[in-house]
Amino acid sequence: VIEIRDLHKAYGPLEVLKGVNLSAQKGDVISLIGSSGSGKSTLLRCCNLLEDSQQGEILFEGEPVRWRGTGGNRQPADRGQVTRIRTNLSMVFQSFNLWSHLSVLQNVMEAPVHVLKQDRSEVEPRARAILEKVGIGDKADVFPAQMSGGQQQRAAIARALCMEPRALLFDEPTSALDPELEQEVVRVIKALAQEGRTMLIVTHDMRLAADVSSHVIFLHDGRIEEEGPPDTLFGNPQSARLKQFLSHSQ
Ligand code: ATP
Ligand code: MG
Repeated sequence: VIEIRDLHKAYGPLEVLKGVNLSAQKGDVISLIGSSGSGKSTLLRCCNLLEDSQQGEILFEGEPVRWRGTGGNRQPADRGQVTRIRTNLSMVFQSFNLWSHLSVLQNVMEAPVHVLKQDRSEVEPRARAILEKVGIGDKADVFPAQMSGGQQQRAAIARALCMEPRALLFDEPTSALDPELEQEVVRVIKALAQEGRTMLIVTHDMRLAADVSSHVIFLHDGRIEEEGPPDTLFGNPQSARLKQFLSHSQ
């Protein structure tokens, strides 16, 4: 679904990604772990072109992102391609980012109707079914402020799902939540993993990473320091940095 080859990203003089490779096949659940500032969010945002990058390839479903310009000045060359990639890699943020002036149902329907130009009559039953699925079917007509954090995050996941994306990108989906609300969201993410959804998940929650991932990537200082299946990575870490990271995050 997504492939990244030798990706480099800098903010001015600050090199954040220094040659990262990543490949997510259909059904893969890849967790990105690493300390604060290691480049996890940046990598996720580069995947769906919310950030530009200076060097390296990004492929969506085998289709390379086309760039114009060179080196530090390159830009995606094809707006249509950017939209196609962005709508197919739906993002869920730590802070939910729901529209406060829209009801939950309107939040979920907004992008399919306005971006994908789908018919309301076709989107609404799908949106309601997805809200049921994430356990907030009774909240369709309330506003985000009237819901708990866990419910708001499930609404944000429903909104991403209603785009019928090829993959879901999560950036710390449970970090803003109290432990018991966190579990509501973890259950939804686990159910999505069991359905075979392709997902990239940036998380500080090592238990979540261990439980749902097919593959875990440990980023350190803009490079992949170690990666592998969760059993190996958590059970038998090799690099000193990963060992140290894990000893602090348990
Ligand atoms: P955290 O766990 O704290 O979310 P992270 O691994 O997601 O960290 P990033 O957000 O990817 O880290 O940031 C990597 C580095 O890039 C940090 O040093 C950060 O300060 C810097 N950075 C991120 N966004 C920007 C930006 N828009 N402009 C300049 N520097 C940025
Ligand atoms: Mg981050």
